[in-house]
Amino acid sequence: MNGTMHGLVNYAREPFSVELREVPVPQIGDRDVLLQVGAVSVCGSDLHQWRGSHGWPVNYPCILGHEFCGMVLMTGARVERFKEGDRVVSETAAVIDEASPLSRAGLYNLDPARRGFGYGVDGAMTQFVRVPERCLHRIPAGLSFEKAALTEPCCVSYNAVCVNGRVRPGDAVLVLGPGPIGLLCAMMAKLSGAGTLIVAGLPNDRKRLMVARDLGAITLEGGVSDYIASLGDGLGVDVVIDAAGVSATLQMAMQAVRPAGQIIKVGWGPQPMQFSLDLLVQKNATISGSFSHNWPVWERVISMIVSGQINLDAIISHVAPLNDWQECFEKMHDGEYVKAVLKPERN
Ligand SMILES: [Zn+2]
Repeated sequence: MNGTMHGLVNYAREPFSVELREVPVPQIGDRDVLLQVGAVSVCGSDLHQWRGSHGWPVNYPCILGHEFCGMVLMTGARVERFKEGDRVVSETAAVIDEASPLSRAGLYNLDPARRGFGYGVDGAMTQFVRVPERCLHRIPAGLSFEKAALTEPCCVSYNAVCVNGRVRPGDAVLVLGPGPIGLLCAMMAKLSGAGTLIVAGLPNDRKRLMVARDLGAITLEGGVSDYIASLGDGLGVDVVIDAAGVSATLQMAMQAVRPAGQIIKVGWGPQPMQFSLDLLVQKNATISGSFSHNWPVWERVISMIVSGQINLDAIISHVAPLNDWQECFEKMHDGEYVKAVLKPERN
């Protein structure tokens, strides 16, 4: 397909180097499809790239957006499982080395050669995106594009809490950071049977903490240590999910975790840490990073969104045309919106 389209391009490292540009419609290879974007949700990492506060390399200029779904418009000659008109959601690992040991183990999300949509290759904040067939999952007709676009952050959270984490029924769970990932992690902890569920944020997180309360969490705008000390036997929570975008919260996590408990770190924070990890040793606690997701997580999460077990109504704050991207980015950054979903206009 020839012609041009509107794409939200991150064109340089400098803060606020993002603008809508007229760009060529991508050409596809034999094993790719051309996807007509149905919806793309705004991620905290899009905001970081917009503000220039990210800690990962970006292949400038690059169209933003990695949380997306849509309809197959064209298929490459060697595409076998999808045809024109199929409704699909896409994984994020746009480029991988399929022969690497990690890819062969099904952990292609951890393959060092992995490059994702929206920073490594052109993403989906546009009308058409080139996607390898291997990234695609089918979605049923009854699932809206707005909701399907949120499959990716749900997968991040499922992988953190339910694959890398071990929340058992009755566990006390503390989530640090009420951004979209923190809130979805709280949802996963609840679904895993968490007894006491606490979500901690800052005073300007008030709107997002209201959503946490709707999910059944106790919310804190500070005073985390005192609250944890007042809980049960006072020894701490079984599991801490650190979903804040700063490094300093790891210290809070170490203080809050119970001896022999677990910390899952899913939030990024490029700042160096100025504190000792001795508490982790003394408490015999486990800390695990959690990154991304892979095929079985996607299939599981899609089925949970379809069944309604994952309810995204409270998470999606606003749906807007792509032209309104800036307002959506600003309001998400300010905590006004939990999650904004963009819908590219049709030509
Ligand atoms: Zn994301």
